[in-house]
Amino acid sequence: MLIYDSVAKEKREFIPQNGHDVTLYVCGPTVYDDAHLGHAKSALVFDLLARVLRANGYNVTYARNITDIDDKIIAKAKEQHKKIGDITSHYIDAYHKEMAALGIARPDLEPRATESLEAMIAMVQELLQRNHAYRASNGDIYFDTASDAQYLSLSHRIQEECDRQQRIETNTFKRHASDFALWKAVHDESVAFDTPLGRGRPGWHLECSAMIEKHLARQGRYAVDIHGGGADLLFPHHENEAAQTRCATDRDLAAYWMHNGFVTIDGEKMSKSLGNSFFIKDALHVYDGDVLRFYLLSTHYRANFNFSEADLLASKKRLDKLYRLKKRLFGLKTVALETSFHNDLLEALNDDLNVSKALALIDAMVAHFNERLDADAKDKTAKREALANMAVIETLLGFGTKNPFEYFQHGMDATHKEKINTLIARRNEAKQAKDYAAADLLRDEILSLGVSIMDTPEGTFWERND
Ligand SMILES: [Zn+2]
Repeated sequence: MLIYDSVAKEKREFIPQNGHDVTLYVCGPTVYDDAHLGHAKSALVFDLLARVLRANGYNVTYARNITDIDDKIIAKAKEQHKKIGDITSHYIDAYHKEMAALGIARPDLEPRATESLEAMIAMVQELLQRNHAYRASNGDIYFDTASDAQYLSLSHRIQEECDRQQRIETNTFKRHASDFALWKAVHDESVAFDTPLGRGRPGWHLECSAMIEKHLARQGRYAVDIHGGGADLLFPHHENEAAQTRCATDRDLAAYWMHNGFVTIDGEKMSKSLGNSFFIKDALHVYDGDVLRFYLLSTHYRANFNFSEADLLASKKRLDKLYRLKKRLFGLKTVALETSFHNDLLEALNDDLNVSKALALIDAMVAHFNERLDADAKDKTAKREALANMAVIETLLGFGTKNPFEYFQHGMDATHKEKINTLIARRNEAKQAKDYAAADLLRDEILSLGVSIMDTPEGTFWERND
């Protein structure tokens, strides 16, 4: 398996440091607002990575943190006259629900900052003891970047540039412009923890290093095998995480660094149907979660992603084809079947998640089986093979998982759906009573609602006409 290491800036053969056990850590959300496309893209990329690693036989432990204490959360709680815990639990639930709608599996571990204070304090104490941190006159504790010869080795930034950039926000308590807070002392009544370090709150960068140490760190040169996150996190967040771990534990933080590209939005086009919003919850009102997943995954993870509704619709048409084939296979049971398609797809994804190649293979597979089923609609062998391939896509890429009929119902409101389902039930009753005239009338009424119906041995299904 090849992974592009964004620190080495090249594709490298992936070799875990502990045999088949792989540790993966990804920076998660700060829970003070609804999840947007950027959150979804990052969660999706690393969901895909975990699937591919597992398909290669690795035993993966995947952790993604939740920042549930932060200035922005405190501000939101104040603004809404709510408790911090109410704000964070609301947005954590929403995040889980929305990511699930995109077919994103929950990571194995989701450590929360408020539950990892001990680990954070221990790390600060270690850094103080090793003279990699100092307490300033205002009570804050800073990481001493000048004490770390390898500082900036991750982002390859130049110290002078870095200083110039950070001088604007430099406070007078720091020794050096690039020093960053490990602990912020709190002297008033605002939210704080009483700890051996004094009353205060942890710095954001500290959280990830401490959680990795607590939950994932293994023996060896590296704390984790792979560390991931959005490209915007490389500096200063990941640089600072790496410095903390290096100086507190004598270990490098990660053997491989993976960063997904930026997400931008074509605002004007979005406004038409999404009300100018780019929150996932709003997008899910308009589009099926599977369509969003397919669309967000269709651009390589390292490339910047520009959301446009035209691209999304083109992407949906491509996914529709997969579901149309799935419809042709409806009712058939999946049997375990080795197909070359599985190996081809995995080989494509093993090349630094080459999703374009994977999608091209899927298109070709769909076309191939449609041809065979066009030639002989009852070709059992073809159906079985196609179904086995479909299962491979579901496991590896996580889309195509829905009932194909329900997939084509998306965009109809609940009242409409209920009306159609009631009419179908009445038609079935009429058919059973052998009242074919009534059944035909009901059929016409259903069709007049802009849907098609299919009678199958598993029952009657309907879908929306395009
Ligand atoms: Zn982090």
